[in-house]
Amino acid sequence: MKLRCEHVWSYISEYIDDAVDTELREEIEKHLEHCEICSAVLDSTRNILVLTADERTFELPVGFSERLHARLAKELVAAKIDGESPENPSP
Ligand SMILES: [Zn+2]
Repeated sequence: MKLRCEHVWSYISEYIDDAVDTELREEIEKHLEHCEICSAVLDSTRNILVLTADERTFELPVGFSERLHARLAKELVAAKIDGESPENPSP
């Protein structure tokens, strides 16, 4: 089982909440070791969770989420081009 970035992102809040299987957790950690984008996503998600959990007002750096989303979108496109054909829903 090899995780792609998209999978890591979809599991990331569960990963932080410690709600993933040991096996999946290991796969995510393995992926994070060599993927700096997912590491950055994890860090960002952690920061956001900590801040929102606090229920007080907080400020994120201007452009923070825009930059993150732009980076994710770019990576997603690259990942799609890199071998995976889009899914065609059958009628
Ligand atoms: Zn990744």
